Amino acid sequence: MEKILDKVYDPHAVEPRLYEHWERSGFFHAEPNPDKEPYTIVIPPPNITGQLHMGHALDETNQDILIRYKRMSGFETLWLPGTDHASIATEVKIVDQMSEEGLTKESIGREAFLERAWAWRNEYGRRIVNQLKKLGSSCDWERERFTMDEGCSKAVIEVFCDLYEQGLIYRGDRIINWCPDCKTALSDAEVEYAEQQSSLWHIRYPAEDGGEGVVIATTRPETMLGDVAVAVHPDDERYKHLVGKNIILPVVNKPIPVIADTYVEMDFGTGALKITPSHDPNDFEVALRHDLPMIRVIADDGHINELGGAYCGMDRMEAREKIVEELKASGLLIKIEPYAHNVGQCYRCATTIEPLTSTQWFVSMKPLAKRPIEAVKSGEIKFVPERFEKIYFNWMENIRDWCISRQLWWGHRIPAYYCDKCGEMTVARSAPEKCPKCGSEKLRQDEDVLDTWFSSGLWPFSTLGWPEKVPEVEYFYPTDVLVTGYDIIFFWVARMVVMGYFEMKERPFHTVFVHGIVRDAQGRKMSKSLGNGIDPLEVIEKYGADSLRFSLTVGNAPGNDMRFYWEKVEAARNFCNKLWNAARFVTMNLPEGGVPSEIDISALDVSDRWILYRLNATIRGVTADLDAYDLGLAAQKVYDFLWNEYCDWYVEFAKARLYGEDEAAKAAALAVLVKVLRETVLLLHPFMPFITEEIFTQLPGGDKTAMYGPWPKENAAYEAGFAADARTMEAVMDIVRSVPPSKKASLILVADEATCNALEKAQKYIMRLASASDVRFAQDKADIPKNSVSHVAAAAEIFIPLEELVDLEKEKARLTKERENLQNEITRARAKLENEGFVKKAPAKVVEDERNKLLGLEQMLAKLEEQLKQLS
Ligand SMILES: [Zn+2]
Ligand SMILES: [Zn+2]
Repeated sequence: MEKILDKVYDPHAVEPRLYEHWERSGFFHAEPNPDKEPYTIVIPPPNITGQLHMGHALDETNQDILIRYKRMSGFETLWLPGTDHASIATEVKIVDQMSEEGLTKESIGREAFLERAWAWRNEYGRRIVNQLKKLGSSCDWERERFTMDEGCSKAVIEVFCDLYEQGLIYRGDRIINWCPDCKTALSDAEVEYAEQQSSLWHIRYPAEDGGEGVVIATTRPETMLGDVAVAVHPDDERYKHLVGKNIILPVVNKPIPVIADTYVEMDFGTGALKITPSHDPNDFEVALRHDLPMIRVIADDGHINELGGAYCGMDRMEAREKIVEELKASGLLIKIEPYAHNVGQCYRCATTIEPLTSTQWFVSMKPLAKRPIEAVKSGEIKFVPERFEKIYFNWMENIRDWCISRQLWWGHRIPAYYCDKCGEMTVARSAPEKCPKCGSEKLRQDEDVLDTWFSSGLWPFSTLGWPEKVPEVEYFYPTDVLVTGYDIIFFWVARMVVMGYFEMKERPFHTVFVHGIVRDAQGRKMSKSLGNGIDPLEVIEKYGADSLRFSLTVGNAPGNDMRFYWEKVEAARNFCNKLWNAARFVTMNLPEGGVPSEIDISALDVSDRWILYRLNATIRGVTADLDAYDLGLAAQKVYDFLWNEYCDWYVEFAKARLYGEDEAAKAAALAVLVKVLRETVLLLHPFMPFITEEIFTQLPGGDKTAMYGPWPKENAAYEAGFAADARTMEAVMDIVRSVPPSKKASLILVADEATCNALEKAQKYIMRLASASDVRFAQDKADIPKNSVSHVAAAAEIFIPLEELVDLEKEKARLTKERENLQNEITRARAKLENEGFVKKAPAKVVEDERNKLLGLEQMLAKLEEQLKQLS
């Protein structure tokens, strides 16, 4: 006797027990296996500073669905987990923590700081990993990695040296983004832009010969301390007379040249630009072309330096005010215009970024970007949905050299060594013992660490053990799908593609599956400052991980943002209960000897053939949706089938035989009940792993786990001959729905001969589910009693003799109420379809469904009106 399932499904008891069992049994572990095809996903490594949020929950759920689906489909499936050291984010946290103790980085020194950082990582870095497990993520924890573990660090040094040796990494003076608060360089990707209300100051630069000179407009007057020229377009008639001559730089009072460069747009502003090469990336390029000097006037801490003359020592913002005052006093300030523009801010601390020239390490990205651009153009790497290619191309095609050095301590230290004696620089995989040039042993390693995205760019192969020659790299690389939010396409995805092609000569993955972000119920971004974040652990605490996962999946299209509703989680929980009750019903009815695992086709009745036919369609649909990354549609299909067809109808149909005396019919019904439930539970497993495992393992024919499926396949035997029976059952359900649930009435169904013959096979179901006392069939209306109410179903017209309806008034009241409901629903549906926003933004499928729904409602209303007319 199979174990009968508990009365109520309790996710809090089931989920931790099953997860521990899975992990202990090694079900998540993958090994290179020549007999199977590999399927690999590397997790976007969460920061060790992180706490699980809804974004992770969505990200991990999507990955786990794909991984479980492929594992069940027979692949050797590796989901490789790990965490990111998150250089700047972690360092900021530790510095904050130290400042509470009155300590600074400098006061304790590099070594002691790193000790703290590792201690911090060991204490808090595990937190996020344990939280991931609560979601049911089937990661291979035996292979968990950390971007700063020994192997990943080795990979970083190896790639750095390879790039350096091929001339693709260089150290030089370039203009970079500088955060005066974090006191480090940042890459372009780490600068966030926010609109600020500011001013545009129009300033006259008089000609050296006493002429009018030019007027320039600037949003940063303090940078004029570092101006080295004024540029105009070579074709600009207004300024032709000035090109080659000098004008006087106000405040500084020195002559600077007027140069001609096509970079200047004639019709933008006054057509004259001040050139400040040390504090503007475009000006920097102009200065290189014209061989102009670079004068850097802002120091690392944001103060004006000694080159700023009288303004030396002032904060840059204070200097701005003072300079404007001076310009006003000298009559050179022409006007101040209010001006809203985007200002770059540090992505960690929101301080306004200062572009400035500095000696840093760079990767030459242009040559490295060629192959990655081709790869996406040729379809070697695909984005799902495709529209996200645009972000990728936009970034790759306008790529600039990547500043990879950071003035931080937590991270991979740059493997460059300087000789104190002769100044020679050596880049090496391990610290050289002496200077290769002069033999001195006084060598210093570069103080800087690498941008945190350098190591995460290597993630798809460093985690598999590269640069060691191990079977894992051979077998699992390239990986398959990269699942991520659209916000880190250029930070991370683009870099992995670059590094994959550079080092492995192969794409790192064939598909980038992009998802949106989870917003609150009002559509706002969840944020700490708004306090509107929902903690996924709280949701799991209340409803279980299955319900959270399902609510994050169903109704969600790839790449689209979604909203979090508690109601959706509740609906998912209700679905769990519905499934549990159905499974309980099945297991309670199992006979002592169990049921045969194979279905005897000859014993099937019309309702069995219908549900098996529908099972086939569901398997086909869910599989196709999963292959197309339409996870939301796939989940919806399993839900609809399980709830609307299996639970609501098939279980009811089966009861007719289960409670009857015919043992053979009973056995046939049970065999189908078990088979359809088992296969559907497998289809649902990737989405709701826990409840499905609990049911599957207790069903006859269920294995010790659902994790290896096998993934259900369509059965050709349920196709050809079954379609007609499926149509008959659709008609039966339509008829049952059309009969008012009143007294036990006798029904007369009028239809053509073929339909009557088909429906007769299902007579017992019509009687049982329509609570009829009798069902008769007729091909015309000749014998219909005069006083009959009629109902029109798609397949047949239904007549109920009036005397059978005991209470006419009650029936009238019921129909009137129903008409009211229908009218309300129609109004609602029409309003929705008249809403342009909905029609434009919703997926075509959703809009079409809504139209069909409206059509159906209108037809039902017409029928109702007809019935009411007959009653009065
Ligand atoms: Zn900062
Ligand atoms: Zn030397």
